[in-house]
Amino acid sequence: MLLADRLIDKAHAAYGRVALLRWKAGKGDLRTATWPEAAGRSSLTKSDAVCNICGWRGRGFKGVAHSESALCPTCGSISRDRFLYWCWTRRTGYDPTAKVLETSPRLDQTYRDKMAERVDYTSSDYDESAHKGAMRLDLQDIALPDNTLDIVLTPHVLEHVPDTDKALSELFRVMKPGGHVFLQIPLPQSKTAPPTEPEYHGDNTLVYWRFGWDLADMIRSAGFVCDVLVTSELRDAALEKRSFQYGGADCDVDDLMSGADPDAMTVVADASQAERHGFRPPFQFVTFDCHKPV
Ligand SMILES: [Zn+2]
Repeated sequence: MLLADRLIDKAHAAYGRVALLRWKAGKGDLRTATWPEAAGRSSLTKSDAVCNICGWRGRGFKGVAHSESALCPTCGSISRDRFLYWCWTRRTGYDPTAKVLETSPRLDQTYRDKMAERVDYTSSDYDESAHKGAMRLDLQDIALPDNTLDIVLTPHVLEHVPDTDKALSELFRVMKPGGHVFLQIPLPQSKTAPPTEPEYHGDNTLVYWRFGWDLADMIRSAGFVCDVLVTSELRDAALEKRSFQYGGADCDVDDLMSGADPDAMTVVADASQAERHGFRPPFQFVTFDCHKPV
């Protein structure tokens, strides 16, 4: 083994030990602390890609630049998981006692255990065939008391719920004043409409709504303050009235961008952060920050 390789191996081992000590010490914002197992698998010399959920660093994510791809080899996150997580950690301060509910998380028990070490975490699901959640929960009739939750992370769930207004008013009811719902859905077009033919996502659950930018107004009607979180690249395109080349049938990008209002967007990641964490193509990274006023 070359001396340089041995030194790199030593550096990796030391990095893993430091990560373990930091994790166990539990100091600082644990949401952004590196998982010890991610540190052990990271490349310190080539780290163009960084997972903001587990802290893994490496040459690149697996797969392509798409919200449903760019897989982290350690925690299994795809890029939309990382953007939702990014929005949460960027938009709220750290509170280890925060009551956090995640609806239908994609990630496995390892992730859920780590989350439970970071905050007061519960996951839920409605249709237990696709994901195993810790509690069964219907967003239209949430079996929780008023003013219970500090944070809700809800990735790609609302489009599968028939009554959007009921779900939003239920979310508003169970949030504590000052709480945030980070609401992520696919945004395939400019204005909300039901699908013209039956549409399913990978987990065989029917899609009731294809949302557009007007979801922000529905969220406000439920009582929330709403910010539409995007990357700088999406806002720049909206400012310059540009669209994106995209071959996928799942999104009408020209229609989506035709209704994109740069003044209604809040930038949470610049181009280098989008590059590092895989938030591309830009039009697939929109999250609605629904804030219950104090
Ligand atoms: Zn990861």
